[in-house]
Amino acid sequence: MKVIVIGGDAAGMSAASKLKRLVKDCEIVAYEKGNYLSYAACGLPYYVAYHDMKVDSLIQRTKPEFEAAGIHPVLFHEVCRVMPEQKKVMVRNLETGEKFEDTYDKLLIATGAHPVIPSVPGTDLMGVHTLKTIDDAVKLKNGISEGVAKEVLIVGGGYIGVEAAETMAAAGLKVRVIQRRDVLLKNFDPEISSFARQELERLGVTICTSEKLKAIEGDTRVQRVVTDKGAYTADLVLLASGVVPSTEFLKDSGIALGEKGAVAVDREMRTNFPDIYAAGDCAEVYHMIKERNVYIPLATTANKCGRIVGENLSGRHVSFAGTLGSAAVKVGELELARTGLSESEARSLDFDSASVMVKASDLPHYYPGASPVWIKMIYEKGTKRILGAQGAGGTGTVLRINIFAAAVANGMKTGELGMLDLCYAPPFSTVWDAVHIAANAAK
Ligand SMILES: Cc1cc2nc3c(=O)[nH]c(=O)nc-3n(C[C@H](O)[C@H](O)[C@H](O)COP(=O)(O)OP(=O)(O)OC[C@H]3O[C@@H](n4cnc5c(N)ncnc54)[C@H](O)[C@@H]3O)c2cc1C
Repeated sequence: MKVIVIGGDAAGMSAASKLKRLVKDCEIVAYEKGNYLSYAACGLPYYVAYHDMKVDSLIQRTKPEFEAAGIHPVLFHEVCRVMPEQKKVMVRNLETGEKFEDTYDKLLIATGAHPVIPSVPGTDLMGVHTLKTIDDAVKLKNGISEGVAKEVLIVGGGYIGVEAAETMAAAGLKVRVIQRRDVLLKNFDPEISSFARQELERLGVTICTSEKLKAIEGDTRVQRVVTDKGAYTADLVLLASGVVPSTEFLKDSGIALGEKGAVAVDREMRTNFPDIYAAGDCAEVYHMIKERNVYIPLATTANKCGRIVGENLSGRHVSFAGTLGSAAVKVGELELARTGLSESEARSLDFDSASVMVKASDLPHYYPGASPVWIKMIYEKGTKRILGAQGAGGTGTVLRINIFAAAVANGMKTGELGMLDLCYAPPFSTVWDAVHIAANAAK
C-alpha cells in the first residue's frame, strides 16, 4: 500500500507515524511545501517573546528521524492538484519549479489553515506580519529584535492576537489591539473574556473594540494604521484576524467541502471519496454536544484526528468521539479556559439552558498565595446535564476546566459533579473546590 500525506505538521505526521507503527511495510510519502515538519505552532508566540528560545526547540521530530522510522517526507514540495478518479496528485517542486504526478492507494489531506489577510491597502508593507509558520515567527522576532519596532498594532483579538499582545507587552513594546467585535476572545462569554481585557490593560496594552481596520499606510515600511474610528502610528503590525482552511487547491477535485471551505469528513475522517481522508485545520470536525460537524481549528483535534486517520488507513474503523472546543489562553497572570458550549451557543442551539457564575478561592484563605478563580457553568435546566464551562483565574484554572471537559463528555449532571471525589490538600485546593462550588450553585 502506498499512502500520500499532504502537509507535514500535526495531523499529517501524527497519521503517518501511527500508520507506520501499525503497518510496517507500507510506503508513506509526505509532501510538505515548507521547510519544517512536525513543529509546535502553539509555541510560536513564546518563541517570539523569549529571546533565548531557539527554533529547534519547537521541532518535535526532524526529517532524519521520520526517515529512520521508514516515512519519506519531501520538503519544499507543494501538492497543487488532487485527481481522485485517477488516484493521482500533481506536485510542484518549489525549489526548481518542476511539476510531476504521483500516484497513491490512499491519500490524507492535512494542509492545515492559513491566516486571513484583510482586504485593505498596505498589507504588503514591510513590518506587516502574520504568525502561522516558523518562518513567520522568525521574521516577527527579527522585526522586534532589530529595535525598529516600538509601537505594535495587532489586528484581531482572538487566541493568537491575545497571546501575541501579552508576550509583546512583556517584551517592553507599546501594544494596541484593534478588534472588530465588541469583545475579545469570541469563543468565551463576555463575563469571562472581560478578564482577559482587564489583564491586558493592566499590562499596558490598549484595547480598541468595535473598530474596523481600513488601511495600513507607509512608504515602504508601515508607519500608520487607519481604522473606521481613527489613525494610530505603528512600526509593526500583526494580522491575527483568524484562519481559513488551506483547501483552494481542491476546488475542482470533486472532494466535498463544508463549513468555511473545510474538507467535509465523517467521524472516521473519510471524505466523499473512499480512499481519501482529511484531518486537522483543513477539515471539519464532529462536535460532541452540537452533534454535527463544525470548523474549530485546534492542535488538540489535529493530533487526535491525525492519529485516528493513521489507524483507519491501516484498515481499522475508529470514530472520533468529537470536539468540545476545549481551549486555553494565558494572559499575564491569568489563565482562561473554556469547554463545551458557551451560554450564547447554548441559546442559539435552543437548549433550555441556564448558567451560574461563581467566584471562589483556588486555595484556602490561610494558605500563602491564595487567589480568586471565576467559573461560569452552563447546564440544561431540566436534566441538569452540564453543557459547558469557562474559567478565569490563577494557576490551576485550566486544569479545573479540564474537569468540566470530562464531565461534559460523559454527560454528567451538576449534582454528580458537585459531589465528585476530587483530590484535596491545602496547597492545591479548598475542600470544596471551585469546580464543586460552581456545580452545586446550579438550581
Ligand atoms: C501562533 C499559534 C498559536 C496556537 N496555539 C494553539 C494552542 O495553544 N492550542 C491549540 O490547540 N492550538 C493552537 N494553535 C493551532 C494549531 O497550531 C493548529 O491547530 C495545528 O497546527 C493544526 O495542525 P495541522 O497539521 O492541521 O495544520 P498545520 O499545522 O497548518 O500544518 C499543515 C502543513 O501543511 C503544509 N501545506 C499546506 N498546503 C500544502 C500543500 N498544498 N502541499 C504541501 N504542503 C502543504 C503547510 O506548510 C503546513 O506545514 C495555534 C496556532 C498558531 C498559529
